[in-house]
Amino acid sequence: MGDDMPDDVLEIPPTGGMPMHLRDFFTPWRNQFAKRAAAHLDVPAAGLECSGTACLVVILTTLCQMSGRRTVVVPAYTCPLVVFAVVHCGLRVRLCDLAVNGIGLDPAALRATCDEDTLAIIPTHLAGRVAPLDTVIAIAREFGAFVVEDAAQSFAARQNNMSIGLMGDAGFFSFAAGKGLSLYEGGLWIARDPAMRDAMMQTRARIVPQRPHVEALRCLQLAAYAALYRPRPLRWVYGVPLRLALRRNDVVSATGDIFSTRISMHRVGAWRRSIGCNELGRLSAFHGALKAQAERRIPLLARLEGVKIFSDAPGTQGVWPMLLLLMPTHAQRDAAMDCLWGSGLGVSRMFAHALPDYAYLRSFMEPTDTPNARDFAMRSMVISNSMWLDDVRFSKILKTLEDVLSR
Ligand SMILES: *Cc1c(COP(=O)(O)O)cnc(C)c1O
Repeated sequence: MGDDMPDDVLEIPPTGGMPMHLRDFFTPWRNQFAKRAAAHLDVPAAGLECSGTACLVVILTTLCQMSGRRTVVVPAYTCPLVVFAVVHCGLRVRLCDLAVNGIGLDPAALRATCDEDTLAIIPTHLAGRVAPLDTVIAIAREFGAFVVEDAAQSFAARQNNMSIGLMGDAGFFSFAAGKGLSLYEGGLWIARDPAMRDAMMQTRARIVPQRPHVEALRCLQLAAYAALYRPRPLRWVYGVPLRLALRRNDVVSATGDIFSTRISMHRVGAWRRSIGCNELGRLSAFHGALKAQAERRIPLLARLEGVKIFSDAPGTQGVWPMLLLLMPTHAQRDAAMDCLWGSGLGVSRMFAHALPDYAYLRSFMEPTDTPNARDFAMRSMVISNSMWLDDVRFSKILKTLEDVLSR
């Protein structure tokens, strides 16, 4: 693709996941990962599950018991796994459009979507950014619905010096591959009300089994991830399949949006929990480095004519796995992606489509017209904030964007 194909054999991952160290695996045994992660966030308690999706299942199952309501409102642009989690719990999905040019829910659309059957609303803190929640929470209260914050991409993001995930009723984070701290697969949930927290602990005791075979597989996968999540091997395990998918025009595979509808539920074993504790010890320094890099690069992107780059609103301190931007037009976004997506520079799309446009999701929801989410899907792109994306490579991206915008 393009003439600017870097003449090396490195592949920058599409997000700034924290590289693992050999000593993460060989330091003294530590336990109580969930407790340490809660302390890291400065929240009273947290629950560890085998994925962010599994966290959402635990949360929704608990809320469902507290209320007879059956409908869950999901942003029309988010991870398809959120839909699977809702369906897994036997609940109905209803989509809500995004605000124009934003990651937050559109208040008018949200009000029109909620009714007396709305169990919960699930706003997303996309790409490490803190989504605006005040209006969402006010509308939820109006309808007697819960707010569950999807903070899968935003572990350790804060608002008013408090962890996100507790502005509403509950929230969850993901420790999947590439999402900051990783257990290969894992997730953490938190809840504001102590009684709800207890109920969630009881839910997990009831519905989450030990599955030693699955856990053994995850241990192997984590070890493989530790070895392969670096620029040379990523060329083979990420870059080659990506370029094959792009050659087939298979956008859903290229963004990694292929998921199984069967949600695996099992307990995370002691070895992975211990490794997670070791990773936690390095996380603040790692987040600091990503933040410094993002702060140097945002002004360079902000100079591009007509491009919107998402940064922190006053009072919020997000995290920086990637830089999220909106191009002026769909054609310009696609022109930029034609040059950059397969180039090994860590440029990607967040998700392939708005949720109504995934063929595999159609049977799970009513057809819904969500023009702003579709527009966001068509104009947005993400630039990795991996520390491996050095200034020379970043300037190639910048130059490509300048060229595309001046055509
Ligand atoms: C990754 C992700 C999830 C699901 O988390 P898993 O740990 O992969 O199950 C949910 N929502 C968003 C926005 C995500 O990015």
